[in-house]
Amino acid sequence: MPEIAITELSLNDLRDVLSDWGEPQYRARQILDWVYRKPISDFSAMSNLPPKLRESLDSEFSFQSIFPVTEATSRDGSSTKVLFRLSDGNTIESVLMMYDKRRTVCVSSQVGCAFGCPLCATGASGFERNLTPAEITDQVLFFSRCLQAEGGAVTNVVFMGMGEPLVNFEAVWRAVENLTSPGLFGLGARHLTISTIGIPSAIKKLSRKKLQVGLAVSLHAPNNELRDLLAPPNRMYPLEVLIPACRSYVEATRRRITFEYTLIRSVNDSVPLAIELAELLRGLNCHVNLIPVNPTPEFKPPHRARIQAFHETLTRHHVSNTIRLKRGLDIHAGCGQLRARD
Ligand code: SF4
Repeated sequence: MPEIAITELSLNDLRDVLSDWGEPQYRARQILDWVYRKPISDFSAMSNLPPKLRESLDSEFSFQSIFPVTEATSRDGSSTKVLFRLSDGNTIESVLMMYDKRRTVCVSSQVGCAFGCPLCATGASGFERNLTPAEITDQVLFFSRCLQAEGGAVTNVVFMGMGEPLVNFEAVWRAVENLTSPGLFGLGARHLTISTIGIPSAIKKLSRKKLQVGLAVSLHAPNNELRDLLAPPNRMYPLEVLIPACRSYVEATRRRITFEYTLIRSVNDSVPLAIELAELLRGLNCHVNLIPVNPTPEFKPPHRARIQAFHETLTRHHVSNTIRLKRGLDIHAGCGQLRARD
């Protein structure tokens, strides 16, 4: 099977290939229209292309870089998790979440993750490698094709699956361009969110990009002592460096930033910590998502009253925040539950 996936190519790359083959340039747009917008599974279905061109594409490129192995849907039908095999045998997971009219794909950006955060199943398996732009893009295209078959469409993409997206910045950004380019997938940039554990230099780099992609930072604690435990990259990028980078991002982009705060019973769910969090974020245009932790042997979610008290304290201190619903728990597709397993 050819090693280069068609989604690895930009419009101009494909035009160059076509010109080498003596084919007209307009074929590039036709081909990418099939790849990004139609529910097909191989080049032979590209019915407006001459058979010889379809054969050339098939012998030079692979139609997809990821291959579904297993699929699980939550009991309430709102989340579907798919395990994909990559061409080198590694595996990743992605999730489709359906809520009201939203169809959100949660994509992975790395095989494993080097950071090993205790709240996250991905980190427990160690780091294998970065995903390519095609492997990231193809996760969205897989679910897009499934939804199209039922008359639906992907409405949102979140980089919250396996891996730290800002460590794999160039490939993630190439995938963002594939997904937002009007001639390719054409999703509005505001419908994409990159979620990070908080890498200040990469946040600054992101703030210089023109596309209005959303940014979510996993905070989990309002001070270094606690955050060193819950998000170990904090030892390299402490709050006194991270929060100013977030403030610069908001100033440069004029966009509101989202902070994810996983609430853990008797660890980070007290009212004094909520007050400390409000102090840390004072004057910052942000929204805090409060996420009761998915239960594990080590961590339990707080009782309802503690969650409510934390929420009300932030609100009283003028910090916009919401308590987020837990989805996909029964198929291990909740936040921090993705890992590669057969
Ligand atoms: S939370 Fe993010 S940075 Fe931490 S181990 Fe998991 S994927 Fe990596």
